[in-house]
Amino acid sequence: MTLAHEVGHLLLHDAPGLARKPKNSVDIPPYKSSEWQANAFAGSLLMPIEFLKSARSLREIIDECAVTEEAAATHTRLLTQAGLLCNPCLG
Ligand SMILES: [Zn+2]
Repeated sequence: MTLAHEVGHLLLHDAPGLARKPKNSVDIPPYKSSEWQANAFAGSLLMPIEFLKSARSLREIIDECAVTEEAAATHTRLLTQAGLLCNPCLG
């Protein structure tokens, strides 16, 4: 996840200075944060949505995608909240 996160910074953000959370980030929506973007990139890379749609449990995602429970829970929650994922097996 960490490596995928950093690759996200490299691909999404032009200058190293933009790859870190600005001090005044409280005032910007979460999706405009470079950290949020890198996390979303990493989640999407490691946990393909087509797999998430058919996953039978959070444990299956953790095991098959080699991510932490926190990463799996966070990514599936964000996709569910955005209306992109509807899988009753994931709670
Ligand atoms: Zn980062």
